Amino acid sequence: MEYEGSATHAVTNQPPPLAPYDASADTALLEGLRREGAGWAEEGIRRLGLRAGSAEAQEWADLANRHEPELRTHDRYGNRVDEIDFHPSWHHLMRAAVAEGLAGTPWAEDRAGAHVARTAGGLVWGHTEAGHGCPTSMTYAAIPPLRRQPELSKIYEPLLTSREYEPGLKVPTEKRGLLAGMGMTEKQGGSDVRTNTTTATPTAESGVYTLRGHKWFTSAPMCDVFLVLAQAPGGLSCFLVPRVLPDGSRNTFRIQRLKDKLGNRSNASSEPEFDGTVAWLVGPEGQGIKTIIEMVNCTRLDCVMMSATLMRKTLVEAGHHVRHRSAFGARLLDQPLMRNVLADLALESEAATTLTLRLAGAADRAVRGDTGEAAFRRIATAVGKYWVTKRGPAFTAEALECLGGNGYVEESGMPRHYREAPLLSIWEGSGNVNALDVLRALRRESGAAQALFDELASARSADARLDAAVARLKGQLAETSEIGARRLVELMALTLQASLLVRHAPPAVADAFCASRLGGDWGHAFGTLPDAADLDAILARALPDGS
Ligand SMILES: Cc1cc2nc3c(=O)[nH]c(=O)nc-3n(C[C@H](O)[C@H](O)[C@H](O)COP(=O)(O)OP(=O)(O)OC[C@H]3O[C@@H](n4cnc5c(N)ncnc54)[C@H](O)[C@@H]3O)c2cc1C
Repeated sequence: MEYEGSATHAVTNQPPPLAPYDASADTALLEGLRREGAGWAEEGIRRLGLRAGSAEAQEWADLANRHEPELRTHDRYGNRVDEIDFHPSWHHLMRAAVAEGLAGTPWAEDRAGAHVARTAGGLVWGHTEAGHGCPTSMTYAAIPPLRRQPELSKIYEPLLTSREYEPGLKVPTEKRGLLAGMGMTEKQGGSDVRTNTTTATPTAESGVYTLRGHKWFTSAPMCDVFLVLAQAPGGLSCFLVPRVLPDGSRNTFRIQRLKDKLGNRSNASSEPEFDGTVAWLVGPEGQGIKTIIEMVNCTRLDCVMMSATLMRKTLVEAGHHVRHRSAFGARLLDQPLMRNVLADLALESEAATTLTLRLAGAADRAVRGDTGEAAFRRIATAVGKYWVTKRGPAFTAEALECLGGNGYVEESGMPRHYREAPLLSIWEGSGNVNALDVLRALRRESGAAQALFDELASARSADARLDAAVARLKGQLAETSEIGARRLVELMALTLQASLLVRHAPPAVADAFCASRLGGDWGHAFGTLPDAADLDAILARALPDGS
């Protein structure tokens, strides 16, 4: 019903709602999916894309972030309960994500491309919201370290790879599906986990210890099991900590409080304390970092994936807005300078998506025994994690600005995406730590540099600017010190992205990327592509409905 009489004005020049839309309508993503060996998953990804863009799922995302999780430390009688209450929307999102195989499922699928399909699923389902991607990512990533302790893996892996979401605290083996978290960071050190002070004391039973100490950040504390680092007699070691013990009693896992965070507000991040907490050793004593680093390798890929998702989601939102909004007598989309901004964002988004899927393909082939891909994955994941997550905050800010003042208002959803972006470059190794990890890989792992240059060589002679950049990279490599690590890793990331685009993207995309990111024909802000860039072709590919 329309208001009449008292209306002061008609509402015009505001865009219609974006939802429902198809989050999988992303040519670069679908091409990458096929190229990296998971074309068989395309139908499922398209179905998931429609579901992610549905009005229902978009509303879940909004509600799960507006109604933040709450910690209940005690019941009404004063007993400790340490439960987290979530809005029903959180559970809807979690149930869908787990059922769609976005948690541990690929490890149970003996099919080439299973890990690529999961990553692509994350790229489209991430159009809902990012917070619930934390427990699904940690559950996925917990499997490789757990496999270092076969008797534990035999019990827990089938439940961590299940497609069933069963919230609530119960004996883990009595549930249909489990979630895993991780506890590494303590007050005195996060990047440098060697400073962990939590102690692990062996009990009379082999492999069973008791923990005493604290963690400063442990996200998703409602998970069923956690991989935790603690100091055992033989040094820093990795443990599996269940919240409910096999006899049905509660393990000691006292949640002191939840963090009041910049973003990621649907997800609970906690400070737990352990005191006599039962823990089972995973991997050898003293090899905690070596064990848990296998988890970090997987979560780092997910950080790249989540940043690429945020880019694509905010690009789609920006494209929708400018298609329906006019200023100074013309649609925003038809204003030349706005086209430059959008096309520049589109290049960044495609480069991020293409690299994400290349990294997922390497991970997939590495777990199936391809040593060359394992060497490439080792260095390229750290490179990608550094660069793609570093671009996220600037990207989401620019996309937000495309909506003008509307973008600064919560109900547009853009502030939520903007607040999420910096997190991806903090956790799982902050920017400097990732850049230094690349140096470590170069110095200590003989195959790493070779694997990267082999990859770059497959695009040799395709673009003179790329060839020159690779030569520059080789020169820098010879003289890089810690102080220059960011510079080096940035160049590695740009050459890697350019080499992928030169081989797989249309010429307009590859040319504009090489001209701007490698050829120096670019400003510092987005929207500074050179005049020669074919903006129409770039936009027609990235936003087919918006060109
Ligand atoms: C929302 C959120 C959820 C989290 N969830 C979890 C979780 O579930 N489990 C968990 O274990 N942790 C979690 N973390 C912690 C996160 O992994 C750490 O915050 C991160 O690893 C950085 O550690 P830190 O905070 O101690 O910072 P620090 O280690 O003190 O680092 C501070 C800064 O110094 C830089 N720096 C460190 N070393 C060097 C160096 N050698 N040279 C140059 N610069 C350096 C870092 O890059 C960073 O910029 C979470 C964090 C956040 C924000």
